Amino acid sequence: MSAQAHVHDILIIGAGPVGLACGIEAAKANLDYLILEKGCLTNSIFNFPSEMLFFSTPELLEIGGVPFVISKEKPSRQDCLNYYRRVAEAFKLHVQLFEKVEQVTRQGDWFEIKSSKNSYSARNIIIATGFYDHYNPLDIPGEQLAKVSHYYTAAHPFYRRRVAIIGGKNSAVEAALDLYRHSAEVTIIHRGEDFGKSVKYWILPDIQNRVKEGAIKAMFKTRVTRITDDAVYVVNGNAGEQCIENDFVFALTGYHPDYDFLRSTGVSIDGQFQKPSYHPETFETNVPSLYIAGVAAAGKDGNSIFIENGREHAKKIVNHISNKKT
Ligand code: FAD
Ligand code: NAP
Repeated sequence: MSAQAHVHDILIIGAGPVGLACGIEAAKANLDYLILEKGCLTNSIFNFPSEMLFFSTPELLEIGGVPFVISKEKPSRQDCLNYYRRVAEAFKLHVQLFEKVEQVTRQGDWFEIKSSKNSYSARNIIIATGFYDHYNPLDIPGEQLAKVSHYYTAAHPFYRRRVAIIGGKNSAVEAALDLYRHSAEVTIIHRGEDFGKSVKYWILPDIQNRVKEGAIKAMFKTRVTRITDDAVYVVNGNAGEQCIENDFVFALTGYHPDYDFLRSTGVSIDGQFQKPSYHPETFETNVPSLYIAGVAAAGKDGNSIFIENGREHAKKIVNHISNKKT
């Protein structure tokens, strides 16, 4: 490191709600911090289904103590984008957008960070990169066809189309209901014997009743074996392969953190849910001074960390860093 190089106290990777919360805590603690974000502000939320309503009520999504006030019970995607943009403005957060962090290397008691645009130095790193960029693949033939997507955005293009949805939890159920209400012909194909236990209680009766009345077709204990231009092929129990004529597929099979990136920084990945290794109180990983925050800390257990509890990581991490400094 040259004598002139500037060393930040903290470099935060990702400007989702949790990365922003970390920036706010760092600012409150008078630490020199920088947030690098590979896309737009709150890039994952920007890419969520355009008409979705968040499950959480607004006060549970607040960061930095800034009130999130709307006139309905549940915020829309647009409400959240507006809110987090206003929070970033209110705190004048040091965020650099459209700049991807590509490499983090330890150099003695500091880190060198290489982004798509520049190099930086920092004493501490917080990885708050979420999971939404990395879907859980099916690993079957046809998954890469243009008709297959792991991201549901909007229903209108699928009017009068035959749409298969793979998965049985919240994303799958919400997409199925939305598509059905826009006159798509919907078939849910799920490997489990029923919808997942995590499906929200106010959505479950809706999907169950649509399946019962035959408005949405559901195939349980069924696996998709391959996808072609005009069909999906499925297997249920010992019966042979069955062909279902089909136009589009949404494989809503959940998401996971960027394991290649995490491993490249030296973070260990452990256990059944392939969680990054970190201290449960401080969120410091097995790499000293490298922290993990938000949904990236959940590994493949995406139903354990949300904005609601992930935002709490920020204060704990910044406290730990501040206490080291004094
Ligand atoms: P993210 O919001 O994913 O932010 C991570 C950021 O890091 C992204 O902006 C990404 O572009 C950036 N990034 C990634 N890699 C790099 C890199 N190498 N360099 C620079 N930047 C990078 N939780 C709730 O509490 N309530 C809800 O109602 C709720 N609804 C949800 C709805 C959907 C459809 C989904 C998928 C999830 C929902 N969640 C909800 C769960 C979870 O809280 C969200 O996924 C939330 O966005 C996680 O926040 P985060 O800051 O940890 O990660
Ligand atoms: P998820 O909860 O991880 O569910 C993934 C589903 O896909 C599960 O049913 C799983 O089966 C199935 N699956 C996974 N891999 C598979 C494979 N290889 N083959 C076949 N099926 C496979 O993902 P999600 O529903 O996208 O939810 C992710 C997060 O977003 C959660 O935190 C959720 O609460 C949140 N969310 C919020 C909202 C909202 O706020 N409105 C909407 C949607 C999602 P098993 O059941 O057998 O594991």
